[in-house]
Amino acid sequence: MNTATPTENGFTLLEEGFSAQDMVDKIINESSMTDDRDAFYVCDVGDLLKQHLQWVRALPRVTPYYAVKCNDTREVVKTLASLGIGFDCASKSEIQLVQSLGVEPSRIIYANPCKQVSHIKYASANGVQMMTFDSEEELIKVARFYDNAKLVLRITADDSKAEVSLSMKFGVHLKSCRGLLERAKELKLDVIGVSFHAGSGCRDAMAYVKAITDAHFVFLMGAELGFKMDLLDIGGGFPGTDDVKLKFEELTAAINPALDEYFPADTGVEIIAEPGRFFVTSAFTLVVNIIAKKVIMDEESDSDGKMIVLFVTNIFACSKLTFW
Ligand SMILES: *Cc1c(COP(=O)(O)O)cnc(C)c1O
Repeated sequence: MNTATPTENGFTLLEEGFSAQDMVDKIINESSMTDDRDAFYVCDVGDLLKQHLQWVRALPRVTPYYAVKCNDTREVVKTLASLGIGFDCASKSEIQLVQSLGVEPSRIIYANPCKQVSHIKYASANGVQMMTFDSEEELIKVARFYDNAKLVLRITADDSKAEVSLSMKFGVHLKSCRGLLERAKELKLDVIGVSFHAGSGCRDAMAYVKAITDAHFVFLMGAELGFKMDLLDIGGGFPGTDDVKLKFEELTAAINPALDEYFPADTGVEIIAEPGRFFVTSAFTLVVNIIAKKVIMDEESDSDGKMIVLFVTNIFACSKLTFW
């Protein structure tokens, strides 16, 4: 049976019903005649589309800007670009990648609050206006090298319950927001909205709700100072699989009412998010070869004190990737 047809864009088209496991078996079979036992990835491109559908259903008011740093494989970015979504880029090279696939600058947010000057200049030269900030130093840089930028103030969120906390590095506390907004005003910069990140792998829906209320408060502050804010960016943190403590739908069930309460549709505020792992986690399967096995004695383990240790092929050197 000829189930696989390679296409010129690097994808392999498969018949209905073919699973990741089938693909893995096929590749293992093909390599069984050779010495090649290196680790490899397979990526189910259809899964990216499924995730997108799930997003649109669960968060109808929120446009996703995929966080490229999560997985910058060209085919992934290309597939997501074809869906018309936006992109969160953290550096010049990510902006280059996304723009090389024909994405317009208005669909890109440069969501790194601490940017290199040469990268700010690059964004300026290439029309990428939306960018985040969380310090006075960044405002001064932007005023000097890109006074036409559309700035988004990143506030902190309580991400203490997330798998990966980001608030140590990024985000300003509510009490410092007014001072920063005043400084932006003095520097004649345009602040168009507020962003936050509830931590990667967020396990606490209240972190989003609290951050949305805080963002609302900053919008009021902005209005007092004469800014016309119309962008709310609710960041990333959405789970990529269902085997998590807080499922995607449970999270969105808390987020949607908060958005409707604090940013009702008639305010005209555009709402975006920066999902990373949400889009790519389930699409990718990593296959490793077990190269050695040891049984060791461990007093702390189960009743018999035996622990089995498996050694696998180097996954960091893994360069093979098959798409379908
Ligand atoms: C890493 C990152 C994301 C994506 O986070 P996920 O938890 O993978 O959704 C989004 N925005 C910013 C600014 C990030 O640094």
